[in-house]
Parts: sequence; C-alpha cells; structure tokens
Amino acid sequence: MDWKAISDRILDGGQITEAEALAVLESSDDELLEVLQAAYRLRKKYFGKTVALHLLQNVKSGKCPEDCSFCSQSTRAMNDVERYDMQTVETIVAGAQAAADRNAKRYCMVSSTRSPNPNELDVICEATIQIKEKYPDLEICSSLGLLDENKALKLKEAGVDRFNHNLETSKNFFPEVVTTHDFEERVNTARVAKKMGLDLCCGGLYGMGESLQDRVDLAFALADLDVDSVPVNFLDPRPGTPFYGKPNPLKPNDALRALCMMRLVIPAAEVRMAGGRETTLRDLQPLALYPANSIFTAGYLTTGGQEYEEDKQMIEDAGFEIEIQGAKGAAEPALA
Ligand code: SF4
Repeated sequence: MDWKAISDRILDGGQITEAEALAVLESSDDELLEVLQAAYRLRKKYFGKTVALHLLQNVKSGKCPEDCSFCSQSTRAMNDVERYDMQTVETIVAGAQAAADRNAKRYCMVSSTRSPNPNELDVICEATIQIKEKYPDLEICSSLGLLDENKALKLKEAGVDRFNHNLETSKNFFPEVVTTHDFEERVNTARVAKKMGLDLCCGGLYGMGESLQDRVDLAFALADLDVDSVPVNFLDPRPGTPFYGKPNPLKPNDALRALCMMRLVIPAAEVRMAGGRETTLRDLQPLALYPANSIFTAGYLTTGGQEYEEDKQMIEDAGFEIEIQGAKGAAEPALA
C-alpha cells in the first residue's frame, strides 16, 4: 500500500476509503513507520506539534444504572469503586485548579449517569459559570450521559464549550457491550449536542473483542457525526466488570495503527490517546503523539495514570509541545 499517496490525497481534500482504513489496521510492523508518517502529515497540518492536555473530574462516581460491560462505574459492577452523588459546585470549581496548575487546555466534568436530572444540570451549569470567571482560558467539557435539546441548550448557555458522549464501538458490536440503551440513542445525543452548538467529543474503546472491521465502522460513524474531538480508549479490564479477565488483544503496535487509522479517517479532529494508553501502548506511548494531538493527564475517572510531570517529559522528549491554554493548535504552514 502506498501510504504516502493516501496521505497526499487526504491533504488535497480527499478521503481514505473503508478498504484502505482496514488495510491500515492489517498493515505489517515493517510498514508501521510509513503509516505513522502518513498520519503525522495530517496531524501536523491541523495541529502542528502541539499536544492538548485534558484533566478529568469525576463529579458523580459509581452511580450509573446502565450496563456497559467495560465500565467500573455501573451499579452492576461488583467492585469497591468509590460511590458518591453529584459533587457540590464548590468541589467541582476547586477541581479546576488542578487543571490550571497542569497547563490543561480543558477541564472535563464527567458524571456516571444515564442522563442528568435537573439538579445535576444546575450544579454543572453553576460550576461552569464560576470556573469561567476564575479561569477564562480554561475550556470546559462535560460528559453527562444522554441529552435532549433543552438540556444541551442549558449547558451551552452556561458556557460549556464541549460535550462528550462516546459511541464506544460499532453499531454491529454495540449489543455485545451494552443492553440498557442502544447505539441510536448515543448517536442521537451526539447529534443533539452538535445541533445546539456544543463542540462534539465522541470516540470509543478498542480491545473489547470487536473485529478490525468494527474498528473501521466506528471511525466512519464518527466521521459522519462531524466530530470535533475523538477520544480513543483501550480496554483496561476493571475488576468486577463483565469484561474483567478479558485478555487484551491489542499489542502496542495495534494501538498505534488504530490511532493512525482514526487520524486518516477524520484528519482535522482532535485525536486523543485516552484511557488505557499506559497499559496498552506502554513504552511506545511517545510514538502515539504522531497520530494523536491530545491526552488526558494525571489519571482517569477510577484509575490512576501517568502523572503530569511524566507526560510533560514525554512530550518534550519526543519533540512536541504542550498547547498553551487559550491557544488553538498551531498548524505548520508547510507540509511534510
Ligand atoms: S453510561 Fe457511562 S457511566 Fe454509565 S455504565 Fe455506561 S460508560 Fe459507565
């Protein structure tokens, strides 16, 4: 496969085909550097060498009635994950300090819920207003489950910049992962967020037993939604969940290929190496900065992760730079 020709075509405004996207995932280790280079040319066009840091705040933990089989925050998961109701406005606002201290571009308030109730929505909106006053350059993302137009509008009016709602996997594989809601409900919430003027953060999770075609189908479903940001998570099987004990089918090189495929399918979107990056990519994490231009730093919702200082060192050592708060990704004018 001529990977340079494919990236040339995408740089000229064309697209990768589904067959080519599948070929990315099937490519050999011998081709990996060429595939990374093809993805990097697009990443460089849209984001230069910047890496956007995101910091998560688990605003309501372990209280979700849904049954996503990978999730340790479902009430059906048999584990000792901390369980608490929606935090107070004061606690959520105080959490934004940690984001500001770590040069994070975004502070992401995530709630384990099917959909926010009116009180929870009020807390998120009030916290957003106060955070925006205190840290005007910090962008606000929230992930609160299913939304209707009224809820999305309320968030938008409070100043929330972006809404996260992942599709998780392909339409075909979705019933193997979740039974309490369906793929279309997720698609609908993503469309509602976009329609009401919120930036859309929407991605998924690889390594649950889905086929390579399922991985491609997810990427094209996300492209159809015109996503602004794509978190690419890798399964880190959590104790007490149905997927605990599943062997991780993804080798580090497979994870790199998955990130490259996402960049080639959705070239202008912020592509994030997200949860599970440390356990799946291991020592190859720095190579993932070639397709990806964003990471979560300082851990996840219920698990720890690489700390900010290590992330900063990794980014600098690989020749990339942390995106400054309030600045857009600085694309380089000349193409590789
Ligand atoms: S809807 Fe979200 S919080 Fe609830 S079980 Fe699924 S992934 Fe976990």
